[in-house]
Amino acid sequence: MKIAMIGSGYVGLVSGACFADFGHDVVCVDKDASKIERLNANIMPIYEPGLDALVKTNVDAGRLKFSTDLKASVDGCDAVFIAVGTPSRRGDGHADLSYVYAAAQELAGAIGPKTVVVTKSTVPVGTGDEVERIIADTNPTLEFAVVSNPEFLREGFAVHDFMKPDRVVVGTSSERAKKVMEDLYKPFVRQGNPILFMDEKSSELTKYAANSFLATKISFMNEIANLCEKVGADVDKVRIGIGSDDRIGKRFLFAGIGYGGSCFPKDVQALAKSSDDNKYDFKILKSVMEVNKRQRELFLDKIKKQIKSLKGKKIAVWGLAFKPDTDDIREAPALYLIERLLAAGAKISAYDPEAMSNTKKIFGEKIFLGNTHYEVLKNADALVICTEWPVFRTPDFDEMKKLMKSKTIFDGRNLYSKEQMKELGFNYFSIGR
Ligand code: NAD
Repeated sequence: MKIAMIGSGYVGLVSGACFADFGHDVVCVDKDASKIERLNANIMPIYEPGLDALVKTNVDAGRLKFSTDLKASVDGCDAVFIAVGTPSRRGDGHADLSYVYAAAQELAGAIGPKTVVVTKSTVPVGTGDEVERIIADTNPTLEFAVVSNPEFLREGFAVHDFMKPDRVVVGTSSERAKKVMEDLYKPFVRQGNPILFMDEKSSELTKYAANSFLATKISFMNEIANLCEKVGADVDKVRIGIGSDDRIGKRFLFAGIGYGGSCFPKDVQALAKSSDDNKYDFKILKSVMEVNKRQRELFLDKIKKQIKSLKGKKIAVWGLAFKPDTDDIREAPALYLIERLLAAGAKISAYDPEAMSNTKKIFGEKIFLGNTHYEVLKNADALVICTEWPVFRTPDFDEMKKLMKSKTIFDGRNLYSKEQMKELGFNYFSIGR
């Protein structure tokens, strides 16, 4: 098939490259000309394991192209995916749908008959209807279909998740569109994972329900961790104790400094807002957000309690990305903590395996970015761990002791054993243990 991806970010680029790998002709479109220039020069605009090789293979095979020209790119396409951003609308927390609607408006005058327009961006219930209306208003005689196909890939595992999805969700009432989507996704679910067809509204809501449920698990465990600290229990033991129950499951039960990233914060907020709009008070979501915000503050309080005056203190930070294996720092807890530590007069020296250039764009010269995780520890009064990158899990503790001025670690991701840290002579503070 001939496919166009409108928006070549984490979702559009990965999806486009994966479809190309299954033999389709794909054009990834973006209005950011510098992104397209880099892609055409085989420079990845994002870090995602396996993506560069996948892109190169498919570009070399002539199946994957990049363009800023939406009109030319969608010409003759069987399916056009809208994969633009839907960030939080400034100020009020609703999903900002302006990029989706702008893309729909551009598509309206450009797509040919029988094109299936697929909304892959995460959008509130009813957005697909509005996309359809925009296209139909501009082009009343055109025969087309609008389908909802939310994306569930995880940054850091995006290629793997797209290639082997747990499930594919498709919302459509058009039999023809259903067939196109089935043909597109069949090769990805050969092991038997389902393609779930449903109505558009249920499909749109499924994506928000999935992210909000996962965020709820995180906030729930963070509250258990906080209680553990009060009563002298160990959240890691409680986690294993409950995670062994199949009904609960082992994943998403790690206590920490809260969720971040480009999806959970905005999606939980957008679902709460759309519930409000529909006169439904979604109480759990409000608590999930409140707990997540408080979790970072409690961690900062822990630091401030131990280091009475942060003024002039050198604080090393390990991990800037909102989670490992990505360079994405959107809503990363590390950014919040760095801002607050700077405001308290601390000097920050930070390291992240992939997210340093994105971080530099935000903090500039206000913080020092080191070349290795050891370099940033030189003369540090404390280390703050914000992201659980594998390289931080088994460091050379003796080397760390030699480098640090004070052997104090605030571990926001519970990477080390308390007993080991005690034996090694560190002042070690973690979450819920
Ligand atoms: P992103 O910000 O990385 O990429 C979006 C891209 O769209 C940008 O490059 C932007 O320049 C481009 N764009 C915007 N308007 C355009 C237009 N009219 N024409 C062409 N290009 C345009 O965003 P993302 O992280 O890929 O997310 C896209 C959507 O997918 C969002 O709704 C998000 O919630 C959802 N999603 C994201 C993830 C994830 O892990 N990042 C996972 C699942 C779903």
